[in-house]
Amino acid sequence: MPTTLPIESPAADRMEPPRVAVIGAGVAGAACAAGLLRAGFDVTVFDKSRGVGGRMATRRAQWAVVDGAVGAAEFDHGCAHFTPTRPRFQAVVDRAEALGCVARWRQRLYATFPAPGVRQVVVPTPNMPAFCRHLLSGVPLRLGHAVTGLQRCPGGWLLHLTDGRTEARAECPFEQVLLAVPSAHAATLLRGHQSDWADALGGVRMLPRWTLMAVTDDLDWPWDAAEVERGELAWIARNDRAPGRLAASGRVPWVAHATSAWSLAHLKDDPAQVTEVLRAALAKLLTGGRPPRWHHAGVHRWRHAQLAHRASCGFDCWWSAGLGLGVCGDSFGDGSVEAAWCSGDELADAVAASFDAAPQTSVAPAAELTDSAH
Ligand SMILES: Cc1cc2nc3c(=O)[nH]c(=O)nc-3n(C[C@H](O)[C@H](O)[C@H](O)COP(=O)(O)OP(=O)(O)OC[C@H]3O[C@@H](n4cnc5c(N)ncnc54)[C@H](O)[C@@H]3O)c2cc1C
Repeated sequence: MPTTLPIESPAADRMEPPRVAVIGAGVAGAACAAGLLRAGFDVTVFDKSRGVGGRMATRRAQWAVVDGAVGAAEFDHGCAHFTPTRPRFQAVVDRAEALGCVARWRQRLYATFPAPGVRQVVVPTPNMPAFCRHLLSGVPLRLGHAVTGLQRCPGGWLLHLTDGRTEARAECPFEQVLLAVPSAHAATLLRGHQSDWADALGGVRMLPRWTLMAVTDDLDWPWDAAEVERGELAWIARNDRAPGRLAASGRVPWVAHATSAWSLAHLKDDPAQVTEVLRAALAKLLTGGRPPRWHHAGVHRWRHAQLAHRASCGFDCWWSAGLGLGVCGDSFGDGSVEAAWCSGDELADAVAASFDAAPQTSVAPAAELTDSAH
């Protein structure tokens, strides 16, 4: 059974800024927490993973080679780059670049539309979580703790947590709880507290993605990445060509994303089978089917990879000052890193503004959030 920790006295009679829990250490949660820290809030970030970054992820793999030696490679197996367009986000990216946490990548991209060429994108360095680590510097983190439930209490909100080993326990009190998790997870946590938000977020359609991470002998391939959308595969990249990545001599780490349609149709397939199918598809694209020498291959399944359609919520985030409850994330925009950052940043501004204002009022009512097309 969950145990409940003692509740401290509510903060209504003290001048200290409210204690805020941000759930999710992806780019939305990181932007939100960074904004609140700057505004002087007492903010703690919780994430079920052991690291930060969420879908901006890098995985390390090792495999045995001859004479007991071990081969190693890293794969940016989620979001591999992003493109800032909004000035406020651009300014944050520029600061991160000056500190060496991101780099510009002139990516040689094979694409059938509009045409093969070079495009400029931004890549965190030396790995994908580096950008969120940078945003979160100075913010207290509780990693490896999934929030399984929210409970109203006199001082605000109890968080029910699990670290995967011990039963969920509650921690109290957070006067404000801000959800920066994928929409389906947010919907689950909001049920019973803000049903209209839960219903709207529960209706947001996100597509899954199977991703192959493989290592071959060096191959003569003129591109850094390719948008293929052919057969099983949608996108492939040589991971060693991204800025700041490890380059192992004579070995090439590849990341290959299956199409959304294929991923959806094969969502429940055995990972070993999926590995074989995607490996064969990659070989066909790289060498015309002649099998390259494989050193490693594995897959990852993203259940909630990207939005099926741009959401039309009318706001960049939701915030109820009365409840001390807010939601942000990439579902509030076009499902991109930039949308997630803007949503988190906007929520921090809304929370800070309502703390300054008296009496407190709701700044953004629950609004329609559907998966209607662009
Ligand atoms: C394969 C793939 C390719 C992509 N390509 C691009 C691209 O090229 N360009 C681009 O801009 N975007 C791309 N994206 C999308 C981009 O990664 C996301 O839009 C963005 O990272 C979302 O950030 P977020 O903070 O909203 O959510 P997330 O990154 O999902 O962060 C949510 C965090 O919440 C945590 N969490 C969830 N539930 C709980 C819980 N109950 N308790 C505690 N913690 C919890 C998770 O562990 C996670 O760390 C891609 C995504 C994928 C998967």
